[in-house]
Amino acid sequence: MQRYDSDTVKEGGKKTMDKSCSNCEEKAQYSIVVTISSVGVSPRIQSYSTAVLFCERCFSELSERLCSDKLREAVNSALTELKKRSRDRSTVQKSMFD
Ligand SMILES: [Zn+2]
Repeated sequence: MQRYDSDTVKEGGKKTMDKSCSNCEEKAQYSIVVTISSVGVSPRIQSYSTAVLFCERCFSELSERLCSDKLREAVNSALTELKKRSRDRSTVQKSMFD
């Protein structure tokens, strides 16, 4: 009886086309992967989280809730950089079509 359950839980359904936010039903805009590294240990040990998807709104909510000012600054500057790059790319793509 229990074996049937593991059969029905198949990984990777057909809903992978439109990735949605991990926190709500919105379409995901960003994914966050957290890298954690040991400091002061040689050789350095690093571990990565799996990617977690967020929409614009949940992402900004998340960054507001970070309990470290330094971490919030780091996350926000990474996001600003990413937005700048995606803006630059879309400008390039647009001029190609002109
Ligand atoms: Zn969301």
